[in-house]
This record gives sequence, structure tokens and C-alpha cells, in this order.
Amino acid sequence: MKVAFVASEGVPFSKTGGLGDVVGALPKALAALGHELEVILPRYRSTPAGTAVPYARSLTLPLGIGYKFAAVQDAGRTHGVQTFLIDCPEYFDRDGLYQQQGADYADNAHRFAAFSMAALEFLKRESAPPDIVHCHDWQTALVPIYLQTLYVGDKFFANTSTVFTIHNIGYQGIFPPHILPQLALHAGLFTIDGLEYYGNINLLKGGIIFSDSITTVSREYAQEIQTPEFGFGLDGVIRSRASRLQGILNGVDYEEWDPATDKRLAANYSPGNLAGKEACKKALLEKMGVAAPILSRPVIGIISRFATQKGFDLIAAIAEQLAALDVYLVVLGSGEQKFESLFRTLAAKYPEKYLVKIAYDNALAHQIEAGSDMFLMPSRYEPCGLNQIYSLKYGAVPIVRATGGLDDTIEPFDGKAGTGFKFRDYSAQALLAAIYAALEAYKTGKAWRNLILNGMKKDFSWTTSAKAYARIYESLRIPAAQTAGKA
Ligand code: ADP
Repeated sequence: MKVAFVASEGVPFSKTGGLGDVVGALPKALAALGHELEVILPRYRSTPAGTAVPYARSLTLPLGIGYKFAAVQDAGRTHGVQTFLIDCPEYFDRDGLYQQQGADYADNAHRFAAFSMAALEFLKRESAPPDIVHCHDWQTALVPIYLQTLYVGDKFFANTSTVFTIHNIGYQGIFPPHILPQLALHAGLFTIDGLEYYGNINLLKGGIIFSDSITTVSREYAQEIQTPEFGFGLDGVIRSRASRLQGILNGVDYEEWDPATDKRLAANYSPGNLAGKEACKKALLEKMGVAAPILSRPVIGIISRFATQKGFDLIAAIAEQLAALDVYLVVLGSGEQKFESLFRTLAAKYPEKYLVKIAYDNALAHQIEAGSDMFLMPSRYEPCGLNQIYSLKYGAVPIVRATGGLDDTIEPFDGKAGTGFKFRDYSAQALLAAIYAALEAYKTGKAWRNLILNGMKKDFSWTTSAKAYARIYESLRIPAAQTAGKA
């Protein structure tokens, strides 16, 4: 089938989190199954120029705030996936993808409306329509909304179905209602069955309502978002669409994340030969400024967006107790100011214990996975979570809260079987107990080694999940006989 991914980020062109990893990897796995894949992304200031060449000029975008224009660049074909970049400098030639200095751009609705419309206008210029347009999160929710409104009679898309993946229901794209016409949308959409949401418009809600199929990134999260606790106000909408919802676990691109081949590491290692892991630990500690690393001391790694979702209030509550333990804490992240200053303060107060870098640094992220003995993810909620899956592969034993994808991917260690440590109560005490349990197990030598190997041998490659997506695409295939009706 011909499948077009439309997304606001994708590796190697842009990334702020797991969405970028998924959009970078899933299309490759789908292409390997024999499907025809193209990926459409915005061209940001930070998008590597690489070999992108002009492809199409001057798409005209009749938004309600006036005509906007975009060009399209051909960013090449790798692993059977063709990538196109929508070039609209007014909206995307900026320092951040969605934000600047922690604040969302005020015109985000217009930016992603222009992008979504440009993607559809670009698709219309291709010789054949896509069978599936696969969109992701609120930034591209306008694609299915436009297809069911502005483009509803358009014969070109008569055979096109939509899949909408929710990577995190906590981010919804909520805007004041007066911008509806600015997005070229009819005021009639401002109803409870449409985009209306407590007096505002909610683009994620529109994506859920107007898509043919909805997925999210783990089985447990598909259940959780149907509850008031995790649904962020959209649990009712999700429940009303539950028959079209499926949870499919994200996979890992092991071409990017494998300690046996990772070029960013001081040494490579694998389940058959773990020797290189200690060299990675030493190199990491030295890189983080430890003059004489104590290699018997466990390293606990954290790589994260600094957001409340990720459980940093729990870490803050036990920060002093952690400093008193015989451990190194290596922390990489950026985001909310209060957490950035928490870690800055801890690093200043305990320079031998808290080794902190406030930044987004992909190479260091790989080096932390390799150099850590344990990896901490005490998330309040976690749709899938990728770092704990990378940690398994890199032999950094995950300590996680049992929620969403964390619960789906980590099996509790019982001394023999299992891959990590889990706690269920969202409390500092429960987190601390899980860390103590991990530190006790670390002392066991052989059992710890088996625990590491249990994790390293797990296979979370994309193949299985890509097949699940392909089955959804197949189920949406519109028989040619129906085409005339839909058009
Ligand atoms: P989320 O998408 O909620 O941020 P995930 O665990 O699904 O969480 O994915 C996070 C991705 O972003 C991982 O690939 C992780 O390595 C990366 N990442 C997060 N913060 C940083 C950072 N400060 N530097 C480098 N990579 C980061």
C-alpha cells in the first residue's frame, strides 16, 4: 500500500522526543514489509541541510489569515523511505520546533495548519494518491480534519484513509475558538461532537474524531487513556472511539541503538562479551568530570525531558537520600526551569555524586545508556517510553514506575528471571524502595550479570509492531467499488 507519514518531527531530520524516534524508524520497518512509504516533515532551522534539493515550488495555502506559500524539498530516499520537507521559513526557520525558552510559539496553530495543508496539497501533486495518511499527535491532527471538511469532495483522496497515532495525550493543541476560520475551518465545527473543548478548540480531539483508525503506543496506555486519571479530559472522547483504538508498542531502531555497533561509545560490547561496558562506564564518568572514577560504585542514569510527567517531583523528594548513597547519578535533560535548577543545585552541592548536564545531547544519551548500571524512569504516566527499552539493550537495568509502556516492557526481577525493578504507588517511598532493591541486587555479582543479560537479549525491534500497523492499513483499504460513493 502507499502510505504517507505526516509528522512534526522525525529522525534524522528533527527530534525532541520519542515521536521523532518513531517517525524515523517505523516507516523503514513498513517499507521492509513491502509497502511504499513517504514521510513529510517541516523543514526547521535545525534540520540538517544534507542533500535536500528543491522539489516543488510554491504550494499555495489558503488559510483564513491570508495566503501562505511553501516549497517542498526532496530529502532523499533511504531504506525504501522517501522523505520530503515542507519549507515555509516564516513558520519553521526558528530556533525551536514548538517553543522558545520554555514558552510555546504563539502561532503554533497557524504553523501546523500551514504544514498540514501543505502536506495535503503536496500529496495532490503526486501521480497517485496515498492509500493511508498516517498522522501523529496534535500537530498533524488537522490532516484528518481537513480531509473530512475542506477536502471531503476531493476525488483525489476518495480512496485515502487516515490513521492517527497518539504519542502523548497530555499535549492536545488547545486554542481559542476565534482562530477556527483562520485555520480555514467552518464555525460549525465548534460543537461538542466537533472540536469544541470547554470553550476552546482542541485539535487532538479533532484528530481522534475525524480519523478512520486511532492508535497509541502501548497496550496499557490504550486502556489508561480511557480513564479520567490519564485521559487529560479526553477520556470520554476516547471511550466513544474505543472500537477504533488499538495500542501498539513502539519498537527500537537497533541500527541506532545497539552497543555492539554504536560508534558513539568508548568501546563496543554485546551479551557474549560484556568487557566493553566497564570501559564505557569509565569514559562516561571521566567525561562528566570525575577525576578518579570508582568503578565498583553503581551509576544510575537519567535522560529525559524535564517535565512533571516524568516523575521529577519524586526524585526531588529523595534527592538528599540519594546523595547519601554510594552511587553516581548521571543526569542529562532540559525543560522546566524548576527541575533544571533542582539538578544544578544538586550538582553544585554534591559534585562527586550528581553529574549533571542540562542540554539536549544525543551522543551523550547513548554514552549514558552504555555507562550506566541502572536507569531511572519514575514517570507519573508514560505512553510507551523508549529510554527504558534502550536501557535493556545497553545493560542499564531499568528502575521504573509500573505505568503505560513502562509496565508493558519491564518484567520484575525475581533473582533469576525478569529485566528490571518496578514500583506501582506514585510515592517517593515506593521509588526509594525500588532503588534499594536494585542496589541490593547489584551486590550479588552473578545474579546481577544474569539480570543484565536477560534485558540485553530482549528483542523490541520494529518488525512485530510494523506488522500490527500494516494490518490496520489493510483493514482500512477502500474497495474500488466504493470509491464513486465516497467521491
Ligand atoms: P518522550 O517522548 O516523552 O520524551 P521517550 O522515552 O518516548 O520520551 O523518548 C525520549 C527520546 O528522547 C529518547 O530517544 C531519548 O534518548 C531522547 N532524549 C530525551 N531527552 C534527551 C536529552 N536531553 N538529550 C538527548 N536525548 C534526549
